[in-house]
Amino acid sequence: MSMKRVLSAIQPTGRAHLGNYVGAIQNWVKLQHEHECYFFIADLHALTTAYENTQNISEDTFQLAVDLLAAGLDPQKCVLFRQSDVTEHAELHLIFSMFTPLGWLERVPSYKDKKEELKGRDLNTYGFLGYPLLQAADILLYKADYVPVGRDQLAHLELTREVGRRFNHLYRPVFPECKELLTEVPFLPGTDGRKMSKSYGNTLPLSDPIEKTHKTVLAMMTDPARKRRTDPGDPAKCPVFTYHQIFTPNDKQAELAQGCRSAGIGCIDCKKVLLEHMDQHFAAYRQRRKDFESNPDQVARILTQGAERARKVAHSTLTEVKSALKLT
Ligand code: SF4
Repeated sequence: MSMKRVLSAIQPTGRAHLGNYVGAIQNWVKLQHEHECYFFIADLHALTTAYENTQNISEDTFQLAVDLLAAGLDPQKCVLFRQSDVTEHAELHLIFSMFTPLGWLERVPSYKDKKEELKGRDLNTYGFLGYPLLQAADILLYKADYVPVGRDQLAHLELTREVGRRFNHLYRPVFPECKELLTEVPFLPGTDGRKMSKSYGNTLPLSDPIEKTHKTVLAMMTDPARKRRTDPGDPAKCPVFTYHQIFTPNDKQAELAQGCRSAGIGCIDCKKVLLEHMDQHFAAYRQRRKDFESNPDQVARILTQGAERARKVAHSTLTEVKSALKLT
């Protein structure tokens, strides 16, 4: 039985953080054993918001590749590559831009949300508006069966389907319909309790040395009502407890929740328990990270070989597209 094809990407904007790990990377590691997976580092997408400031993009790409490999992506089990190494992404995006109505892009809900989140930057560019169209090209180029998404990205996927249908209708059927692989990820707040976001400076980068991670966790916000050690707390209102729900075994969680509600434990003790479990969880990652980081040639080779494998599929789709357009 042939495996279903899965496609997903992550942007190299700064260092990957715990939210990326819990929300995407951990899932990729699992998916590579179940499907034919194409995962890429979306450096072209990074340009849509960081077009003025590209000096770190190459280092960020390398560091992200190290994070992905250290987290357990195996180049024998999945295709891992850098988007800009497969120029067919840009070419298909250009072709799609010819027949995609502007209104389709303007109504994508995340367009306004993201613009609001990044206000202060000049994002009145085609690249920013066309971001979901580049995503459609990424997905359709590989004729992906499934795309792992959170609920907030369903509108992007619907746009991808609409673009594929429009192409099939205007020229001839080339693109299958991709489906969402809905990923219910726990909401992981940032260290200050707000949404974890690089623009808020409240992330926990995966690549931080262990001492720095400890320092950040020990300074994390807790239940704001728990001002003194003797005040009882409410784990449901504490971002630290959300982390426990991911990294700490259930029986220990119950014990900590009870200690919090009765003021039997202090927040520092509670955070130390969390760090113990996080340290265990990331022990193998940390070792592999050291190994890959000290071997950039190996990482470059993995990305180059991944791009070669991806290009075969991308080239074949683009040949079909050009033939349908009579561009041959
Ligand atoms: S004891 Fe733990 S769960 Fe309760 S407020 Fe403090 S850090 Fe949060």
